[in-house]
Amino acid sequence: MSENENSPKTLRRIGVLTSGGDAPGMNAAVRAVVREALTNDVECVGIRRGYNGLIRGDYYLMHGQEVSHILSRGGTVLYTARSDEFMTPEGRQKAVDVCRFLGLDGLVTIGGDGTFRGALELSRLGVPVVGVPATIDNDVGCSNYTIGFDTACNTAIECVDRLRDTMSSHERCSIVEVMGRRAGFLALYVGISVGATAVLIPERDLDFEKDVIEPIREAKFVGNTHFMLVVAEGVCMDEKFPGVHTVFDLGNKIQREIGMKPTVTVLGHLQRGGKPTARDRETASRMGYRAVKALAEGRYNLIIGTQKGKIEEIPIEEALEMKKTVQMERYYMLHDLQNRVPRNLR
Ligand code: ATP
Repeated sequence: MSENENSPKTLRRIGVLTSGGDAPGMNAAVRAVVREALTNDVECVGIRRGYNGLIRGDYYLMHGQEVSHILSRGGTVLYTARSDEFMTPEGRQKAVDVCRFLGLDGLVTIGGDGTFRGALELSRLGVPVVGVPATIDNDVGCSNYTIGFDTACNTAIECVDRLRDTMSSHERCSIVEVMGRRAGFLALYVGISVGATAVLIPERDLDFEKDVIEPIREAKFVGNTHFMLVVAEGVCMDEKFPGVHTVFDLGNKIQREIGMKPTVTVLGHLQRGGKPTARDRETASRMGYRAVKALAEGRYNLIIGTQKGKIEEIPIEEALEMKKTVQMERYYMLHDLQNRVPRNLR
């Protein structure tokens, strides 16, 4: 069959990059992109260090060999970065020039919301893009799930379980801050999974007495001797309690109120690393595979998302308009599942 104007352009060469914060499973996505490209006789150029690398022409041709044995590794073999230069029209024009120089018929960008905003700008300058959501924050509106979230939850849970052993032995109160930027998904899932005394997420209006002190008092009343508060980093970022800028401030405030000095642990970057879980490897493989399938079949300027467990292709502009928020019923469930004073005795 001969090609005509309406036939999808034959895909000869694509690029792939990882951008924003690293997330476990990014490597599995890169592997899927490279392997599916090669299976379709399409060359794949790996761009190092996200949009910074694109601007600087930091790339290499990837062979099947390059992605052997990376499926199980955390981080990203392509390195990742945040790029201020790409935020400027001049920077983006340089990136487009490099895409043209390399003869890229498409670019797969693996990252979070910011990465996709960058991809949208590239698409407006004529570069066909497909985004694959990978961020431990799970805060991409168009996708129920983002690569890395499950691994980060499991890592945080393991850390909190360890902390609990020592907290219960010393009968103390512990505050654990988990990542998530301005989203509380990670904190909520971790809180439910460790049976936290209270979970503080930025999606809620918070009241110090009701959301922090009361749960501790109640837990004490029913006989608990140690208390675990899981706090999303966005709570302090957004100063949900006036004058509380860090979890350490929160610890001091609790001490002033009830005389018990909590130990404070910020899990920080510990949550980002580690071997991806089965869920992250499998989801990343499916998303990376689908990204190349879409490009090969002439569909681009979209994000590959999961909706109700199925992989979907969402036009990028529409995808960036979509919002999602934590499921509040999970939050209320967490409270109902605690060892609490029965309602009629409160
Ligand atoms: P994570 O959720 O892990 O932080 P992310 O992709 O949201 O990942 P960002 O730092 O927000 O991470 O974005 C990655 C890069 O995308 C930025 O460093 C910047 O170069 C580019 N970018 C972000 N927002 C825009 C925008 N509005 N226009 C153009 N480029 C953008």
